[in-house]
Amino acid sequence: AKSTGKSSHLFYDVSMEDEGLDRLTLENDLRKAMDNNELVLFYQPQVDTHSGKVVGAEALLRWQHPEQGLIPPFRFIPLAEEMGLIGEMGDWVIREACRQVKAFEDRGIHLPKVAVNVSALQFTPSFTRRVKAMLDEIGVDPSVLELELTEGVVMGDTSASIKALAELRDLGVSLSIDDFGTGYSSLSYLSRFPLDELKIDRSFVIGATSSPEDASLVRAIVAMAKGLGLKLVAEGVETDQQYAFMTDEGAHVIQGYMFSKPVSAEELEPLLAPWHFL
Ligand code: C2E
Ligand code: CA
Ligand code: CA
Ligand code: CA
Repeated sequence: AKSTGKSSHLFYDVSMEDEGLDRLTLENDLRKAMDNNELVLFYQPQVDTHSGKVVGAEALLRWQHPEQGLIPPFRFIPLAEEMGLIGEMGDWVIREACRQVKAFEDRGIHLPKVAVNVSALQFTPSFTRRVKAMLDEIGVDPSVLELELTEGVVMGDTSASIKALAELRDLGVSLSIDDFGTGYSSLSYLSRFPLDELKIDRSFVIGATSSPEDASLVRAIVAMAKGLGLKLVAEGVETDQQYAFMTDEGAHVIQGYMFSKPVSAEELEPLLAPWHFL
């Protein structure tokens, strides 16, 4: 037991050092990633439960690292936030997503909406102005853009948030509340904020078919969304059983591996054919 203790102590030190190095390297690389065009957007289709048509796609950020390959967002978005890079990075995501819709449009391919995740640190007083400038610059209709906001993004200063959200909506973009159910805030804000859509978090979709408590929670969320006239999106739907539960409960839109994983713009194109998921 003594020797195990010693070796695990040694191992611990080494791994900590490695992690520190990894992080430093990653930080340095991340500073250059945007200039080096290493960021890419993947797109996950959102399918309307009634028509079977793709009504939108969520843009999900990836980092194509020259040595490490494709790095998922959980490994670098928190870093970008800590390093103060998320504002620039997040704006790039909005611009790139709108550009992609425009590029499709120019070739006669219709993607009705692209949903983009907004970080709390990106949601500054100049946000609306920046969004408008990007939409104007690219020349897409604001209705193609949907912003996915978590409770954390909008809860800070409630009256300022409501004002900013109202301005965004006046521009013509739509607003979705993301990861719903995982936050800590009161439900009353939902009725005061000018929202279009509510996304139930994947954790509830998973729980709904196995835990009666989660099933009740999902039912309550669905009822609330309906009462407030919000479009309801279920994310992370993988199985027929989950699909059946969510559609029976009244979800309007389904996003999940059951239909498609997030894919490159090139791979998304054939999925946008009106008959693809029918
Ligand atoms: P999110 O906004 O909740 O996005 C949904 C995540 O669930 C995505 O992970 C997606 O690939 C995954 N997902 C969708 N359907 C399924 C499914 O059926 N099964 C499973 N196992 N997973 C599914 P991803 O792309 O790794 O993104 C993780 C998180 O990173 C996102 O969670 C979002 O919070 C953040 N993120 C991604 N792109 C951006 C971005 O451009 N800006 C910001 N601020 N955050 C982003
Ligand atoms: Ca949507
Ligand atoms: Ca999201
Ligand atoms: Ca989520």
